[in-house]
Amino acid sequence: MAEEAKDASIDVSAYADDMIKVIERYELGAGNLIFVDGFPNEANPFRIGKVSKLEKKLYFKRNITPEERAAARKALYRFEEKDLRKIDDDWSFVKHVLLHQIVHILARNKDCYDCDKWAFYELKF
Ligand SMILES: [Zn+2]
Repeated sequence: MAEEAKDASIDVSAYADDMIKVIERYELGAGNLIFVDGFPNEANPFRIGKVSKLEKKLYFKRNITPEERAAARKALYRFEEKDLRKIDDDWSFVKHVLLHQIVHILARNKDCYDCDKWAFYELKF
C-alpha cells in the first residue's frame, strides 16, 4: 500500500454503488444508506459512521480524512496486524466500516468488538 494513498482523504460517495451491492446481500437497500457531511453533535470528533437500528439507516460520512481513518484504525488495537493489513486499501477500509454498521443493525446485541471481528471475516465475500 502506497503511503501517499493513506495520507489522502477518501471520497466515500465514489464507492456508493459497491456499498449498495454489499448492503443488498444483507437484505438492506440503497434507501438504507445515507451520506452525511459529518456528525456535529457527536462527542467523538472522528466519527465516520452511525446507525439508526430502528429505522435501519446507515449514516456514512461522505469524506473520510486521514485523521478519521487513523482514529478508526487505532480503535482496532485488539486485532492483529494481519487483520489490519486487510483494510489498508481505501475500499476495504470503507467496506469494513460498512459491514460493522450492517451487523449493528442485524444483530442488535453485538458490541463493537464483535462487529469488527465479524466485519473482518465478511470482508472476503
Ligand atoms: Zn460499533
